[in-house]
Amino acid sequence: MANIVIFGPPGSGKGTQAALLSESFGLPHISTGNILRHCIESGTALGLKAKGYMDSGELVPDEIVDEMVSERLSQTDCVSGFILDGFPRDIHQAHALDEFSKIDMVLDIRVADDEIVKRVGQRMVCECGQTYSVPDNPPKKRGVCDICSERLQRRDDDTPETVLRRLEVYHKKTEPLIGFYRKRGLLREIDGSLDIEGVKKQIFDAVSGVSG
Ligand code: AMP
Repeated sequence: MANIVIFGPPGSGKGTQAALLSESFGLPHISTGNILRHCIESGTALGLKAKGYMDSGELVPDEIVDEMVSERLSQTDCVSGFILDGFPRDIHQAHALDEFSKIDMVLDIRVADDEIVKRVGQRMVCECGQTYSVPDNPPKKRGVCDICSERLQRRDDDTPETVLRRLEVYHKKTEPLIGFYRKRGLLREIDGSLDIEGVKKQIFDAVSGVSG
């Protein structure tokens, strides 16, 4: 049983690492960014509300995201644990999470801002949530997802200006949560400057300790 939160600035590889963990430990990967993008693609009312915030690099209002996460964590596949990627993102959300779940570990993937800007410029994504980076982690066939064979795209919020804004929001609103979870003894710092395998090893070592 392990309820895990993954933190990291945009482009730190948290989505990639959460997917690897999910596959190996059999825990659901819950990415609030992916859920919101899915709502936008499906044209739901929630997606319509969220799009403007996401495209400009701002946080979607807490009440929308809190309810979405509370509903998702109450589903039966979360009873043995989950990997939460992209939530909580501010102190209000951290308090909300306390109301609906107990967290066992918080992984903090650390990457310098200049490296983030470079990585986001190289990112290509698929609608299924799979992420690639050219040239470091390319798909087998150029421009096509290895998993579902759909065409890869750039995220609407991966423009240079929006990335800078998302980084600012991360430093201002999300980074203070690191101290919040460190005080509780839950934080594990991960050096995100390494390649995917190097980051994965640190994370798997940390999680193997808590999940037994
Ligand atoms: P991500 O895929 O985690 O980089 O998230 C992409 C965008 O979705 C963010 O820049 C926010 O606009 C929005 N978003 C994702 N998770 C949250 C959250 N927990 N609270 C508010 N906005 C969020």
